[in-house]
Parts: sequence; structure tokens; C-alpha cells
Amino acid sequence: AKAAGGARWSVFDADRNERELARYALSAAIPAALERGEFLLDYQPLTSLRDGAVLGMEALVRWRHPQRGLLRPDAFIGLAEETGLIVPLGGWVLAEACREAAGWGDGSAPAPFVSVNLAVQQVRRPGLVDEVRGLLRRTGLPPERLQLELTESTMMSTAEEPVRALRVLADLGVRIAIDDFGTGYCNLAYLRGLPVTELKVAGEFVTGLRAPEPASRTDERILASLVSLAHALDLTVTAEGVETAEQADRLRAIGCDAAQGWHFGRPGPAARHLTRSPALSGT
Ligand code: C2E
Ligand code: CA
Ligand code: CA
Repeated sequence: AKAAGGARWSVFDADRNERELARYALSAAIPAALERGEFLLDYQPLTSLRDGAVLGMEALVRWRHPQRGLLRPDAFIGLAEETGLIVPLGGWVLAEACREAAGWGDGSAPAPFVSVNLAVQQVRRPGLVDEVRGLLRRTGLPPERLQLELTESTMMSTAEEPVRALRVLADLGVRIAIDDFGTGYCNLAYLRGLPVTELKVAGEFVTGLRAPEPASRTDERILASLVSLAHALDLTVTAEGVETAEQADRLRAIGCDAAQGWHFGRPGPAARHLTRSPALSGT
């Protein structure tokens, strides 16, 4: 039995090595895929809980892989970060998002901003400010219509120099959001010293929001105090992962500013969310 167990383990390790190799091969293919135009952006609306307007849209990258079909970011972003290839890939995302967003809206209502995820390597690069300035100038996108999303861990591991860069961008009018807030070690006192304009509260805090259940009361109270603290710091709050009308109602009652999630729209081409008429609860 022992021998069989040992054999199983080595088979298991071989499988794991193969999977690792496959992951590396996938990430090594990113530069050529960029050249061939295999990446595309889907967008997901950030909807006002006050009037149902689409305030912004988050750009979410996808890879139309010739052999493996449409790949979600979870399949390649992690490794792209490990290998540094997130810098050219993220640069493409930023440029493409600005280019597309510059064409949104017909002038009758304020056009939504575009919200772009930034990896820590992109923030640490000395050229970030010039890159963003150049993109805004070339595309004509007003700075207020660009939001950069950084995770708590990116913010925490970002040194003084990159924070200065973020401050320059914020002074231009670019919005800076903390992504997945509540999943890391960030605290609001720390945020006070950073050029942040918005908190995006992680979906796991939203999952438990169900109206009459006592168990959901704790989650609701945590969220409510988070929202009021954020407002005291002049930050807006967007709740992520909002899947039901009930969650949207609770969040509205709490005073949360905006919501993102399947209830308000799944990721898809920008045009799908631009043409949809505003609906208060999305129903
Ligand atoms: P994220 O920034 O937290 O993006 C939100 C993710 O939650 C998206 O997954 C979205 O499809 C999903 N989602 C939206 N609404 C709901 C909902 O109601 N319920 C549930 N269960 N999920 C919902 P996606 O597109 O697979 O992206 C996964 C992650 O990949 C993103 O998480 C982000 O961290 C990363 N990512 C995506 N695009 C980029 C990019 O261009 N650059 C970088 N650095 N990371 C990216
Ligand atoms: Ca995000
Ligand atoms: Ca998020």
C-alpha cells in the first residue's frame, strides 16, 4: 500500500509540474498574443444606488486564445504579474480602455468613467504619470473619466515615490479606487494619507445581506459603519458582487453610493451598458 501511495504521489507531482509548465507557456505567449490582438476588454457597470445611472464601467481583460477559447483573467493575470508581463499587458489595457471610453456618451448626459485595474508593477514604474498623461492627451479622455483601481496590498506595498505619482494623477483629476476593500490589511486611518477617492467593498461583505435574517445584521452593521467612515473621509463607496435586488435595497438603505454586480449587469461589450436605460433597482 505504501509503494502504491508513493507512486500516486509522484504521478500527482508530475501532473502538477505539467500544470505549472502549461501556466508558464501560457504567460510566455502573452507578448505574441498582444501583437496579434488576441486580448479584448469586457465592461461591467458601476451603477448609482440613488438614481440608477451608470456612473462608470470597469474594464475586465479577456484573452481570445486561438486554441483554448476565451480565457478569463484568473487564468493568466496571476502569472503575468509574477513574470512582469503584466506591464506590457496592463499598458495595453489602460490604452485600450481610454481609447474606448473617449467614444462613450452622446453628450446628453455625463458619460461614464472607465475604471482600470492596475497591478503593483505598473504603479511602481517611474513612467506611470507620463504614460497616463500621454494617453489622456492622445485620446481626449478627460482625467475625471479615468479611474485607477489598486488593491489594498498594492497600496500597502507601494513606496513613497509611487504614492507621489498617484497624488500627481489625483491632482489632475484622475480617480483612485481601492479594490477589494476589506480583504487585506488596509485601514481607514492609513487611507487618510493617500490620494484615494473611492472604496470598492469586496463582494464577500455583500453576500450575507438578506433583509430579515439576524445573521445578516452583523454584516450589515459592519458595512454601515464602513460607509459612514468612508463618507467622513470624503470617499465614495461602491459595493461589489451585488447579485440580488434585496442586496441592492439593503445597500441603498445603508447609504452606499454605487453598486457593481450581476444584478446590475454582467461584464460584456461597453455598448450593452451604454444603451440600457437606467433602472433604479435593475429589475
Ligand atoms: P475584480 O477587479 O474584483 O473584478 C470583479 C470580478 O468579479 C470580475 O471577474 C467580475 O466578472 C466578477 N463579478 C462581477 N459581478 C459579480 C457578481 O455579482 N458575483 C460574482 N460572483 N462575481 C462578479 P473577472 O472578469 O473574472 O476578473 C477577475 C479578476 O481579474 C479581477 O477581479 C481583477 O483582479 C483581475 N483583472 C481583470 N482585468 C484586469 C486587468 O486588466 N489588469 C489587472 N491587473 N487585473 C485584472
Ligand atoms: Ca477591480
Ligand atoms: Ca474587486
